Amino acid sequence: VRLLDNVYLVGGGAYSGLGLTSGGDCNIYLIDGGSELALVDCGLGTSFDTIVGNIKSDGLDPSRIKRLFLTHYHADHAGGAALFHSKLGVGVAISSEAAAALESGDEGATSVAAARSAGIFPTDYKLEPCPVAISLGDGDQHQVGNLTIGFLSTPGHCAGHGSFLLTGGDKPVLFAGDSLFWAGQILLQAIPDCDLQASLASVLKLEGLGFDAFLPGHGAITLSGGHLHVELAAKTIRSLAIPRNLV
Ligand SMILES: [Zn+2]
Repeated sequence: VRLLDNVYLVGGGAYSGLGLTSGGDCNIYLIDGGSELALVDCGLGTSFDTIVGNIKSDGLDPSRIKRLFLTHYHADHAGGAALFHSKLGVGVAISSEAAAALESGDEGATSVAAARSAGIFPTDYKLEPCPVAISLGDGDQHQVGNLTIGFLSTPGHCAGHGSFLLTGGDKPVLFAGDSLFWAGQILLQAIPDCDLQASLASVLKLEGLGFDAFLPGHGAITLSGGHLHVELAAKTIRSLAIPRNLV
């Protein structure tokens, strides 16, 4: 589904919004930089063929995907990374804090084991280890063809969480992962590496970015005027209240 001139939604479960792929998948975005394509997050890995089919239906060639930029290591965002790497040769980029856990398939650090026990993932779900091509640090910038994608460290939802700002196209686009959602909501969970204060600081960091399209990891997407959502959350935080939780 084409969202913007250079951004498509190619996956996401019924819980997340459009129901293009398995129920548990996050919103999966494809960036078209002209000479190359890139993905932002990739879902659980249980709908790999469907995602590839969706990309083809949008008139794009999946073999031109060069990189997969991951917001964080939770399996609903990163579980499919190993498949994209092995089947399409995609180079995976994730924050330097999160890289080791993804490379070893650490189901403790990534809370996959906890999420499986809680019934969030199927009982037979396994996080496949995946090599990391690029370890990202705050402020790093990479080219996707004629577009620029910048990495911002936005921890809180979990350790090593990051967001991406895409520039060079029609309008600045924020891929917020699980740091911020529609109506200024955040996402705190009862897992060891979730950090309320870090989450609030990350929201205030996002407020300083001049983005227009707001593309979060779950739920409603805003194609223009999306800065409103971060303004709502920041206003709540400045009144010393905690933004509403998504779950
Ligand atoms: Zn998450």
